[in-house]
Amino acid sequence: MRTDRRTFLKDVAGAAGLVFVGCGVAGVQSAQRAGVTRRPVVVKGRRITTVDIHAHCAVPQANDLLRRSAPAPTATQGSVLALDGEALAQRLAAMDAQGIDLAVLSINPNWYDVDRDLAAKVISVQNEAMAAFCAAHRDRFAAFASVALQFPDLAALQLEESIRKLGLRGVAIGGSVAGAELADAKFHPFWAKAEELGAVVFIHPQATGSAALNNRLRGNGLLGNVIGNPLETTIALSHLIFEGTLDRFPGLKICAAHGGGYLPSYMSRSDHGCQTFPAQCAPGVPKLKPTEYVKRMYYDSLVFTPEALRHLVAEVGASQVVMGTDYPYPWVDAPVDHVLATPGLSDADREAILGGTARTLLGLSAL
Ligand SMILES: [Zn+2]
Repeated sequence: MRTDRRTFLKDVAGAAGLVFVGCGVAGVQSAQRAGVTRRPVVVKGRRITTVDIHAHCAVPQANDLLRRSAPAPTATQGSVLALDGEALAQRLAAMDAQGIDLAVLSINPNWYDVDRDLAAKVISVQNEAMAAFCAAHRDRFAAFASVALQFPDLAALQLEESIRKLGLRGVAIGGSVAGAELADAKFHPFWAKAEELGAVVFIHPQATGSAALNNRLRGNGLLGNVIGNPLETTIALSHLIFEGTLDRFPGLKICAAHGGGYLPSYMSRSDHGCQTFPAQCAPGVPKLKPTEYVKRMYYDSLVFTPEALRHLVAEVGASQVVMGTDYPYPWVDAPVDHVLATPGLSDADREAILGGTARTLLGLSAL
């Protein structure tokens, strides 16, 4: 049955893509009127609002300023990161086919190595473009802000403006910043501002940031992504725990991509390191058992199998998991079915993971 549904969804997405080619934004609306309907997601007989917390886009003007191109999902799909024309039509068709009501957009940072003036311009262009786009499509999209985290004081200002003035819903950052760990004390002003604003901080890995490790991940199989990305997240979250950052800023709302990398699935080892080798740990840091912090953070559902999602929920709790797809990177094609097929979840759990928790976290409950 699952295979049939996947095939059906692919067929719908494929057909919709062909219908919409060249239609542009106006084409989206007319195509929707023409009867390409959104798949309603129903839990216990009730239509629920679903949220994808992990969806990417790019702002071409920002990449022009950087003289860089946005990373394409595949060699032939560069345009699908855009938010207009055919690419937007394809995105909406895919969301409709997958049963995604609302996507929370983020931009993967590619500006952590540039100077302050350029970084300020890039972030301004991106956040204003995202805000304008979301204002025009508020029934389908929300967005995380981007910040120039290599300049933590500037990042704090950008975060405040993007939340208070532009109406963005949190902030997306990398798993490290030009080789610096997120737990580095120089980032305290940023963490303090995120805590003060109650802003969700979505942590998304990039490269591992270590030349030696990158070298080991070369070769066949995309290891720099397949294991490098979850490893980057694991390292970032572990430092935030073990350096005491989460003790210093206990109100932080952190959401980690890709199920938090490897940390939640093997978190109990983190409790036993300092017990086994106490001489190598600072007394009283962190204040609590490391797994207590893991259980306070949030994770997207991008762990592929029902068994992996069952285990993630068993370790951190259903209240800490939110649906994520990584769109337009084609890692998954049936994110809603993944949650529905996960054993052991109550209807309330399913509704929370599919959208309820994200709507509360991001202040989207009115939608
Ligand atoms: Zn992603």
